[in-house]
Amino acid sequence: MNSGSLAVHGKKLEKRQAKTVALIGNPNVGKTSVFNALTGSHQKVGNWPGVTVEKKEGRFAYAGQNINLVDLPGLYSLSPFSLDEQIARRFISRENPDAVVVIVDASNLERNMYLVFELIEMGVNLVMDLNFMDEAKERGLQVNSRELSQVLGIPVVETVAYRQEGIDTLKEAISQAAYNPRIPKKFSFPDRLENHVVHIETLIREAIPGNRKETSLCPECSACSGSTEFSINGFPVRWLATKLLENDPDIHDLIRTHLPDEKRDHFNKELANIFSAIRHDYQEEPEVVVAEERYAVIHGFVKEFFHQKATISRRMKLTDRLDRVSCHRYLGLPLFLVFMWLTFQATFLLGGFFVGYIEGAFEWLSEGAITLFGRLGWEWLGSLVGEGVLGGIGSILVFLPNIFILFLIISVLEDSGYLSRGAFVMDRLMHAIGLHGKSFIPMLLGFGCSVPGVLACRTLESDRDRKLTLLVVPLMSCTARLPIFILFTSLFFARNQGTVLFSLYLIGIVSAIFVAWILRKTLFKGDVSPLIMELPIYRIPSVKNVLGESWRKSALFLRKAGTIIFLVVIAVWLLASLPAGVEYASSESLMGRMGEFFAPLFRPLGFGFWQASVSLIFGTVAKEVVVGTLGALFGGEGYLGNALLRYFTPLSAFSFMVFSLLYIPCVATLGAIKREAGWKWTGFAFLYLFVLAYVLSLAVYQIGRLLVG
Ligand code: GDP
Ligand code: MG
Repeated sequence: MNSGSLAVHGKKLEKRQAKTVALIGNPNVGKTSVFNALTGSHQKVGNWPGVTVEKKEGRFAYAGQNINLVDLPGLYSLSPFSLDEQIARRFISRENPDAVVVIVDASNLERNMYLVFELIEMGVNLVMDLNFMDEAKERGLQVNSRELSQVLGIPVVETVAYRQEGIDTLKEAISQAAYNPRIPKKFSFPDRLENHVVHIETLIREAIPGNRKETSLCPECSACSGSTEFSINGFPVRWLATKLLENDPDIHDLIRTHLPDEKRDHFNKELANIFSAIRHDYQEEPEVVVAEERYAVIHGFVKEFFHQKATISRRMKLTDRLDRVSCHRYLGLPLFLVFMWLTFQATFLLGGFFVGYIEGAFEWLSEGAITLFGRLGWEWLGSLVGEGVLGGIGSILVFLPNIFILFLIISVLEDSGYLSRGAFVMDRLMHAIGLHGKSFIPMLLGFGCSVPGVLACRTLESDRDRKLTLLVVPLMSCTARLPIFILFTSLFFARNQGTVLFSLYLIGIVSAIFVAWILRKTLFKGDVSPLIMELPIYRIPSVKNVLGESWRKSALFLRKAGTIIFLVVIAVWLLASLPAGVEYASSESLMGRMGEFFAPLFRPLGFGFWQASVSLIFGTVAKEVVVGTLGALFGGEGYLGNALLRYFTPLSAFSFMVFSLLYIPCVATLGAIKREAGWKWTGFAFLYLFVLAYVLSLAVYQIGRLLVG
C-alpha cells in the first residue's frame, strides 16, 4: 500500500497531505546549515515535549508537495546514553516520520557511518546527504554517490550546505522518498555473529505477539517488495535483536514488558545461552563484539566506496602548518589568550564609536518626554517614560553595538575553525583540573548566556561530570553582565578598558577552575573520561553566516530588553516613586528604604549605599537590570555617569564588578539548574556563588585599600 499516492484512472495523483521528515546527524556535520537552506524563513523553535531540549521545525514545498522538517538533536549513535539520543530514537520509532535524512560529513566518513548503519539496521526510510563535499574534495576523497546509493538501497545526495550547493537536488530526493518510502537493503554481520543475531530474531518472533505491518513499498526493488516487517512499538525485530546484544537497557525493558509470562523462562534461558556462546567465540562481551563488527563492516565499506587520492590539497597542508603553531604544546594556550584579549579590545574600540550617538538619542528622547508630558500636566507620566523607561532601557541598549561586535568576532573565529583549536588547547587544561573535555562547550556557551550553557551539559554522559560542569557554568561571564562592565570600565578605567574587562573574564574562569578543582576533590570524586576532538580545516568564514549568527544573538538581547527588562524597570520606577509624595528615587521611597536595609551588608565591599544594593537585588531577575536600575534611579540626577563618579571610586567600582560577575545567577539560570539537577543543587549553587562573590569582592576592596591607602 503506497500511502503517498492514489491511483485514479491509471494515473498517479499525489495526495497533497504534508509529509513529516526528520533530519539527523552527528554534531557539526552542517545539520543546522542544511535545515536553514531547506526551510528558508519557514521555521519555528520550541521544546521537545516534557524536556527542555530545543526542537526546531520548519517546512518547504517541492513541486507542490509539502514537507514538514523536524531537526533532531545531534548525536553519534542511537544508544540511549544521553537525553539527546533518547529523544532522537523515540521520535523515529514512535512518530514514524515519512522519511529520515541522515546528514554525513563526507570528509569524516568512518565515524559518521556508524549512525548511518544503525539507521539502516532500524529499517527507516532513509535519504543520505553527503555534506562537506568541498572539504572531502580538499582532502582528496573521491566519492561515487551513484554506486553508493545502489549498494545501500537509499538515495544519496552531495551538498555543500553553507554555500547552498545541492540543496535543490536534496529537496527533490526528500520529497521523492517521503512520497515513495522504501526500506534500505539489509546488512549482515560476518557469519560468526550474524547467526546469533538471526537466532535472537527468531526467539523474539516466537515469544512475542508483535505487530506485522507492510512497510516495504519500493517498486523497483524486488528484494523487499511485498515482504512484511515484524516490529514491536515500531522497532523492527532485527534491530531489537542487536540492541539486546548491545545490552541496551531500554530495549531489555521493552522486551521484558512484552514477554508473556509462560514464555519468559525459555526466552531468558535461550538468550543467556547465546550470550555465553558469543563470549566463548570472541572472548569479549557481546556489546563490544557488536560495536567492533559494525565498525569492521563500516571500515571495509568506506575503503571500498571512498577513494583517497594520493595528493593532499594545499589547504590541508596549510592547515597542518597553522596547527603546528595554534595547537603547540606551550604556545597554543598563550596564543589563544592573546586572541581573546584582542577580541575584547576590539569590542570596545569599534563599539565605542557608536555609543555616543545612541546615548545622545536616548537623552534627547527622555528630555523630550519629560518636557512634553510636563506641558500637558502629566508630570508622573513624564517621569515614568523619561526617567524610568527611557533611562532604564536606554542605559542597556547603549551596549548593543559592543555586543554585536563581540558576537561578530566570535563567529568569525568559530567559522574559520580557530575556536576548535582554542577548545583543543583548553581541553588539556580542563583535564588537569578534573573537568571533562566536553565541559568546554557548555562553558563556552556560558559566555553568551548561562541558560543554554547549563542545558548543554546534557551532552556529558556521566552524571558527575554533568553536575560539576553545570555548577561552574554561571561563573563564565555571560553577555548580560557586559553592560555592567562596559559602563563601569568606561567611567573608571578609560585608559585600559580592554585589559580590565579581560581580567574580569579571567577572574570568572579562574574561579570556575578553582571551584571545579575543589568539588572534584570533595563532592565529585573520580576520574575523568578522555575526549577525542576533531579539528576542521581552516577556511575563510562566510560573511552571510557570520552576520546572520551575530544578528540572531543580538536580537535575543534586544528582545529581552523589550520584555522582561522593560517590566522590571517599570517596577523599579514605581517603587522609587511610592509612597505618594516622596521625591523620586530618594531614600524615603519604598525602594530607598529597601536598599537602606541591605546596604550595610555591602559596606565592607565598598558600595554600601542603597542604590547599589537594590540594583544588585533586581539584577537577579536579569543581570542587565543592574545597569537598568541604576539608570532609572539616577536618571533624575543628570547623567548616570556623573552620578556613578560621585558614588564610586575605581577600587569600589572594580569590587562592584567582581561582585556582579560572581554573585547569584539570574532567575532563568537558576530555573535551568533546577530543571537539570533539582532543588538541592540549585540551593547549593545559590549559596556558594553568593559566598564566593562576597569573599572575593571583600578581598579586592580591603586588600586594594591597604595598597592604595
Ligand atoms: P550542526 O552542528 O550539524 O548543526 O552544523 P552547523 O550547520 O552549525 O555547521 C557547522 C559548521 O560547518 C558551520 O561553521 C558551517 O558554516 C559549516 N558548514 C556547513 N556545511 C558545510 C559544508 O558543506 N562545507 C563546509 N566547508 N562547511 C560547512
Ligand atoms: Mg546545529
